[in-house]
Amino acid sequence: VGQGNVRVLVRARPFLQREIDAECKCLLSMDQSLGTTTLYRTDDIDRSDDGLSDSGTLLSRRARDVKEFAFDESMWSVDRMTKNTQFVDQDLLYDKVGREFLDHSFEGYHTCILAYGQTGAGKSYTMNGTDEEPGLIPRTCYDLFRRIEKMTTATMTFTVKISYFEIYNEHVYDLLLPVITDPPTPLKVRESPVDGPYVKDLTTHSVRSYAEVEKYLKLGNKQRATAATNMNATSSRSHAVFTIALKKIESDPIMDETTEETNSRIRFVDLAGSERANSTGATGTRLREGANINKSLTTLGRVISILAESTLGSKKRDVVPYRDSTLTWLLKDNLGGNSKTAMIACISPCDYEETLSTLRYASQAKHIRTRAVVNQDFIS
Ligand code: ADP
Ligand code: MG
Repeated sequence: VGQGNVRVLVRARPFLQREIDAECKCLLSMDQSLGTTTLYRTDDIDRSDDGLSDSGTLLSRRARDVKEFAFDESMWSVDRMTKNTQFVDQDLLYDKVGREFLDHSFEGYHTCILAYGQTGAGKSYTMNGTDEEPGLIPRTCYDLFRRIEKMTTATMTFTVKISYFEIYNEHVYDLLLPVITDPPTPLKVRESPVDGPYVKDLTTHSVRSYAEVEKYLKLGNKQRATAATNMNATSSRSHAVFTIALKKIESDPIMDETTEETNSRIRFVDLAGSERANSTGATGTRLREGANINKSLTTLGRVISILAESTLGSKKRDVVPYRDSTLTWLLKDNLGGNSKTAMIACISPCDYEETLSTLRYASQAKHIRTRAVVNQDFIS
């Protein structure tokens, strides 16, 4: 059993052009060896003329409203110039979290990586990336098929199936349908005693190469935008869930029959922007009825805080309200059960309130423990 805490990583994105034009100041520094992220209020920063933040000297400034948080990793993607700070590009990001999670998948564990943060903080860049700078999902898929190619033998074979859906306003929509109806057709969530919660009638697609996955990813990302348009919405309000089902089949060369099957599920979740949920108390302490902009995100906050408290010894696990939202119901195992799970908290370098809220949310997630098991069946 792989018992362990949810891995929590923070990634700070570069300044956007409009922030450079507005001469926004950098409110962050990181100590990557300690995994700490420090957030400053604007007026605490009295910087020299070079205009660069400097992890070494900022700490000696006035200490008012300086907030420090520790994570498994603090990843600096703001600029390449800051002293004593390694720039985390998409390649290094994959080194830090992607490759290890894929190792777990080949060992037979279910895994899940979630991206959290306000709209524009870099969630989609981190998960999907761009054509030039692919993110965790395409890199994982690429590595997956590279490994399968290497490992396949006469007695060991693999199958890969993918699905992609989004949750918008508590409804689930398949993103891999060739045509998205107007309005899109919602799917139902069901729970099976063996496999847990699942989306009924969600399409799954067998894929045999990276090129095939890439085609589906492109389709899914396009459909996410189309569905949003058809619902008069913005895709920043939806949660996108991409799932890979990896099956390893080992057979007995003499008897010529399957002897062992390992099933692992790899999940990537690009969460809705956290900015509106914050004002309704997404950290789980206050849930204001009525002002429920994004029930799934609000419930995720409550689930995280209850799970964190239960680890700290003050609450029993059976009161976790997974079924209060579509997202938490479907991610039940990933949040408190059989899964190795990581959260990447994406932050802007220059938005004090939103960044503080995201860092606090991420701090709670550190306390969650899951119990992952190898999903292996022996067939006799
Ligand atoms: P979100 O999905 O959280 O709303 P995006 O991923 O769309 O945010 O990022 C907002 C903008 O910032 C995009 O133009 C994106 O390309 C850019 N961006 C985000 N993170 C990075 C990064 N680490 N490096 C370079 N550009 C980034
Ligand atoms: Mg996005």
